[in-house]
Amino acid sequence: VSTWSSVPAGPPDPILGVSEAFKADKDPRKINLGVGAYRDENGKPYVLSSVKKAEESIRASNPDKEYLPITGLPEFTKNAAKLAYGEDSAPVKAGTIAVTQSISGTGALRIGGAFLGRFYPHAKVIYLPVPSWGNHTPIFRDSGLEVRGYRYFDKKTVGLDFEGLKEDLRNAPEKAIVLLHACAHNPTGVDPTPAQWQEISDIVKERQLFPFFDMAYQGFASGSTDRDAFAVRHFVKEGHQIALSQSFAKNMGLYGERVGAFSLITADAEEKARVDSQLKIVIRPMYSNPPLHGAQIANTILSTPALYHEWESEVKGMAERIISMRERLYNELTHTHKTPGEWSHIKSQIGMFSFTGLSEAQSVGLAEKAHIYLTKDGRISMAGLNGSNIDYFAESVARAVK
Ligand code: PLP
Repeated sequence: VSTWSSVPAGPPDPILGVSEAFKADKDPRKINLGVGAYRDENGKPYVLSSVKKAEESIRASNPDKEYLPITGLPEFTKNAAKLAYGEDSAPVKAGTIAVTQSISGTGALRIGGAFLGRFYPHAKVIYLPVPSWGNHTPIFRDSGLEVRGYRYFDKKTVGLDFEGLKEDLRNAPEKAIVLLHACAHNPTGVDPTPAQWQEISDIVKERQLFPFFDMAYQGFASGSTDRDAFAVRHFVKEGHQIALSQSFAKNMGLYGERVGAFSLITADAEEKARVDSQLKIVIRPMYSNPPLHGAQIANTILSTPALYHEWESEVKGMAERIISMRERLYNELTHTHKTPGEWSHIKSQIGMFSFTGLSEAQSVGLAEKAHIYLTKDGRISMAGLNGSNIDYFAESVARAVK
């Protein structure tokens, strides 16, 4: 018998499954709203002009292909931290942020999970919002943390369950770890307001919780990298020692290049040096050192003022196209098609995704009857909509709901 004869078949990835079904569909009207990658007005993947220019300038400098250090390109990690925390942030100025390059956001979360699993001095319990990005639970479970949930989304209002969230965080054991989506919550598209973030910060302080921010969409939510960093910067200003995962997949369109960063705020230079040394010991046996090219691209953009400005306007352009699709979808559903129900959440939600409120039966029905593919939870990627397919999409949703 084969060595692997008793390996059980695992379930397919729910999101990648949607893409496969889409690929197999031959209907010309088909729409893929499952993937979490930006698409341009023509439904095509989009390589940012600032990225192309950065690549040209890297090529022109005739770089070698030597290994990076274990924690990555030092200039890149410095600039990544500056982007997240802000140039005038106290720990940036004091040089107390321990930061490492990571294999995009997923890798940052995994390094963070492993570091907390090894060194967090209190109960290794992490609270995730319900629902959360599907990969959070396996990432932290594989890191050896106990995963629990706090209420986040209210199905009735298709909005934030703020009372439930507060109650669950207040009832969490003291010093538990709490994962917070910094902006553009995936999958719901529902974010706390600045005032609500302040209250969350107060509860985190009261309960001495440890805040771990996942910032996969900085700039993508509002179009401004500063505005989208509000929660992170507010917590830091309030004195929280946060952990932070950053991804450059979405905001620079560097999906397959796998560019990210993980950071921790430490007390002083001596503590930072100890934490840095242990981050290296966590990372070295996992993958030795991170990939070079993507970090060079991101760093070239972050460190070249002309490219930085172009990038900022491109991020804004992507965010604004998504916001305009939200407006248009809302108008089509309510005014053109008189779709039963309340649809204002389509406009108030933020970022790449929208929880439409469509049921599992309606979501599956859209694939079968209209060749429109979304996840069973009714989540759509707004970036998959454009001027050519939005009418057909709205009409199909209206038909599914009526
Ligand atoms: N965190 C959240 C909330 C996400 O939505 C994603 C991507 O979809 C990630 C992290 C990580 O993505 P990546 O590993 O491509 O940076």
